Amino acid sequence: MALESIVRAENTNEVEERDFTSLRPKSFAEYVGQRALIENLKIAVQAAKERGEPLDHLLFHGPPGLGKTTIAYVIAHEMDADIVCTSGPALERPADLVGILTNLKRGDVLFIDEIHRLPRIVEEYIYPAMEDFQIDMVIDPGPHARSVKLELSQFTIIGATTRAGLITGPLRDRFGFSLHLEFYNPEDLKTIITRSAGILATRITIDGAESIAFRSRGTPRIANRLLKRTRDYAQVMRRAAIDQDTAIEAMDINGVDEAGLDRLDRNYLNVIIRQYGGGPVGVSAIAATLNEERDTLIDVVEPFLLARGFLNRTSRGRVATSKSYKHLGFARAGQKELQL
Ligand code: ADP
Repeated sequence: MALESIVRAENTNEVEERDFTSLRPKSFAEYVGQRALIENLKIAVQAAKERGEPLDHLLFHGPPGLGKTTIAYVIAHEMDADIVCTSGPALERPADLVGILTNLKRGDVLFIDEIHRLPRIVEEYIYPAMEDFQIDMVIDPGPHARSVKLELSQFTIIGATTRAGLITGPLRDRFGFSLHLEFYNPEDLKTIITRSAGILATRITIDGAESIAFRSRGTPRIANRLLKRTRDYAQVMRRAAIDQDTAIEAMDINGVDEAGLDRLDRNYLNVIIRQYGGGPVGVSAIAATLNEERDTLIDVVEPFLLARGFLNRTSRGRVATSKSYKHLGFARAGQKELQL
């Protein structure tokens, strides 16, 4: 694979991400929320800069859209470093990784998204690179195979994953930091929405920003997406600003309800309740019934439902909580849930 295409890692939301680039905070000062994590990082960055050393390798985990990529760019900016971006699945062969690593300069940041999907054979090459900034290359495979040691510049790997549990022990151990991103509270989302509206030159009232914040699933990417849909709606409806009514109408027509659940969330819970008596049911069965990817349910749908108490995960499968029954308008929790 050519370096160009590895570096511009495959991204299903590529157009959207390009659009969002202008909304991405560039420095610690602009970054909203995740305060404990940011304080931790500020200390690490300042200490590394004072010593004139590259930053230790960092691993970020948490659901999509919470700002893992954004933080990687912020760190590179704060370290005055260049950043190269790729992803686990884009690094198909060891040569793909070696090609990137040998081009890094001292202090550069290599961001690897979806690092849990790094092929095992590539992962083995990354261990000595992370630990000793060396790579053992095998030349002339076969009976005359020789191994050559390549010295690398000292760089920083920033890994991001939605599934910390799928990262192997040896890889996890090579990161100096392993940091979890939490869902954002509505207050922080309101700040993000107001800031984004300013960048997009869109007028929004405090109530309008608040209404979007409450329906954004604790996720900045969704907040920005809903802001854009609401901006379209306000424009077409000839509203001077996004106020509370405009925001609510726009989100209603986009299928986002007052708890921030969208159609897929509601379908997911409906399947558990109607088809499987409230659970417990395995996620593969739910995925098959919904005709959805299992990974989408695990990465995107479930973390928020779990965090907000709509769902429980037990050793026997997923269970809808009484909050789900109430939210979806069922009279009361089914027998199975009451037995748990
Ligand atoms: P992830 O890598 O975790 O999937 P991203 O870093 O791509 O998430 O963030 C998605 C979008 O959300 C970004 O383009 C950015 O505009 C916005 N965003 C993320 N975190 C913040 C934040 N703390 N403050 C403001 N905007 C943010």
